Formats: sequence, C-alpha cells, structure tokens
Amino acid sequence: MPEGLCKHGRVICYECVFVTDAAKRAYDVVAAYVHFVDYDTRVRSWVALKLADGSSDGTLYLSKRDAVRHQGGGEMTCAYFSYRGSPEGFGNVRDAAVWLEYHRRAYDAGMRLPDPDDAHGGPELIMPTAEEQLLGQLMRLAPGVN
Ligand SMILES: [Zn+2]
Repeated sequence: MPEGLCKHGRVICYECVFVTDAAKRAYDVVAAYVHFVDYDTRVRSWVALKLADGSSDGTLYLSKRDAVRHQGGGEMTCAYFSYRGSPEGFGNVRDAAVWLEYHRRAYDAGMRLPDPDDAHGGPELIMPTAEEQLLGQLMRLAPGVN
C-alpha cells in the first residue's frame, strides 16, 4: 500500500476519516442555518468556513463573491459552503470532515478557488457526489501524483 493511504487504499476515506473538532464545528454552523433560514433563501446562500477550525464569521452570504470579499484578504483560509446542492447541510460530521479535507488538499495542490476579483468569487471545484469518484479525484490531488 503506498504511503499515506488508508487500509482501503484511499487518500481520504469516509470510513476512516478522523472527525476533528473543526469538522464538528463546521457541521454545526451549517446545520444552524438549516434551522433558522428558510429554504428559498438558503439555497442561494454561502457560508465561509475556516479550514483551521471549522468556524464561520457568523454571516450567511447571498453570493460566494461576497463571502470571499468579506474575508479581508484571508480568503484562502476558508472554504465556501453552498446550500445549492446541499439544502439540508452536511449529511453528517464525516461528510463535513471530508469536505474540509478536500478543500485543504485542493488549496495545497495550488488550486485558487476563492478569488475576490472574480465576478462569481472564483471557480467552483465541483466536488463529485459519488463517493468513489470523489475519492478518485482526491487521489489525483495527492502530492506526487500527476
Ligand atoms: Zn479507509
């Protein structure tokens, strides 16, 4: 088994992912808006989640661009959660853990997703929804692959 892979041969694994406090916090932040914000507003909204600890700035943004611009130059310290594809938030804390790790690795791989000068706040990395596709894409983001 190559170094850095779990027993399933994956870089990041829904079964093996370590659920950090950051993941629990991110899950809670996203879940709170599900309870307090109506569906129609939510599906157009974004939350900036800090990769370091899963916290947010306490603001629900109506565009990714606003979310990115309000980080005051620290946009790369956050990943941007959209309810468009996930109106009920993260499925569970493991989903949140994988999502955070996915963005950490994308940034580490040199992808600049948040862009305050972009009309849409930067390109979206379309996170595959099928688990095996997601894990395959993560493999390709791994250092030393490509
Ligand atoms: Zn595994």
